[in-house]
Amino acid sequence: MSEPERPRRPRFEPLPEWAGPSTRAVHAGRRSDVNAGAVVFPIYQTSTYRYPAEYSEAEGPGDVHLYTRLDNPTQEVAAELLRGLEGAEAARVFGSGMAAISTTLLSVLSPGDEVVAIADLYGGTLDLLRQFLPRFGVHVRCVTEPEALDPGRCVPDGTKLVYLESPTNPLLKVHDLRAWTAAASRVGALTVVDNTLATPVNQSPLALGADLVLHSASKYLAGHSDTIAGAVAGRADLLARIDRTHGILGAPLDPFAAFLLTRGMKTLSVRMERQNGNGRALFDAVQDHPKLRRAHYPGADSDRSEEIAGRQMRGRSGVVAIELAGGAEAAGRFLHALRIVEVACSFGGVESLASVPSETSHRALTAPEAEAQGIRPGLVRLSLGIEDANDLVRDVSDALDAT
Ligand SMILES: *Cc1c(COP(=O)(O)O)cnc(C)c1O
Repeated sequence: MSEPERPRRPRFEPLPEWAGPSTRAVHAGRRSDVNAGAVVFPIYQTSTYRYPAEYSEAEGPGDVHLYTRLDNPTQEVAAELLRGLEGAEAARVFGSGMAAISTTLLSVLSPGDEVVAIADLYGGTLDLLRQFLPRFGVHVRCVTEPEALDPGRCVPDGTKLVYLESPTNPLLKVHDLRAWTAAASRVGALTVVDNTLATPVNQSPLALGADLVLHSASKYLAGHSDTIAGAVAGRADLLARIDRTHGILGAPLDPFAAFLLTRGMKTLSVRMERQNGNGRALFDAVQDHPKLRRAHYPGADSDRSEEIAGRQMRGRSGVVAIELAGGAEAAGRFLHALRIVEVACSFGGVESLASVPSETSHRALTAPEAEAQGIRPGLVRLSLGIEDANDLVRDVSDALDAT
């Protein structure tokens, strides 16, 4: 399949300009051209499309689909919902978060380019930046605190791209996105923000000056721990480049997964309202528990973090990390004592999950590396779902008492 030169332009029915983000997330996917009037947009489970021998010159080829690796109406609806949620010019969905991240970076970087990244990124992203991209001549510098607290000094002339996450995973540190995007734009660098943990309900990186926003849609966006998906949203000129690379690298979102992602995004704002509340309730209830060395929640580690989070976030998410004073053994006893919260990695689903980063997401780190990043063996990450807050507080408190 060769690449079509022309960009596809799916047509969505316009909503009133006063429609807010929750309204848009429910209604933004309306397309009268292809869906036969169905209120729920159908799953176009097809690999290919009848290609018209001729199309009207006036209409142009905008709505012609060719092949599902390149484009599919069900994928386009999911992308349109995310575009609206992030306030972006354009968006695209992918077969996983890592597909979205790798395709995006391979679209905008070239040999010789300099990248600045914060060091406490998602593990897969760090592998891509530190092990994979250098093979193609891309130079990556990872900055750690306290240097990372002063973005103006971290982004030298000649930097091509700045890569950020905030809040970070699993320690939920907050980076000042406005300060980073200002430092990047001073030297003409692009800023890319992974917004997976915050979600567009809680944080809008594009409004803070970022050029592109990335998502593992497998987490909060899809929201039910049943789908692997990814997405990028941002400037139309950059998305046009990403569209071309996406056709070459070939990691499309399956139409059925795109349907699940769309269904998930329609309820994102109500889920986040509950999950933000459950995260806060659990953090407040357990932060001073005698079995804990400390607890982490976005904004809670210092006055400075609280000030930044208050400025750039509308809610703080449903992820809380707790550090058991008794180390790995205490963490093991704690996990066994949980009765509602399930022990599994990942986050963002409707069911609460607990995982030990040193055994799951950060297993690849050596002991000194993990210690330097603050990922201790007694650290447990809790992703609060949509259950009753009292039940979650009771389950976690009982399990702490039992360790
Ligand atoms: C899970 C995750 C990813 C990777 O996404 P997949 O959908 O698992 O490929 C990237 N970034 C963050 C912050 C994540 O949590």
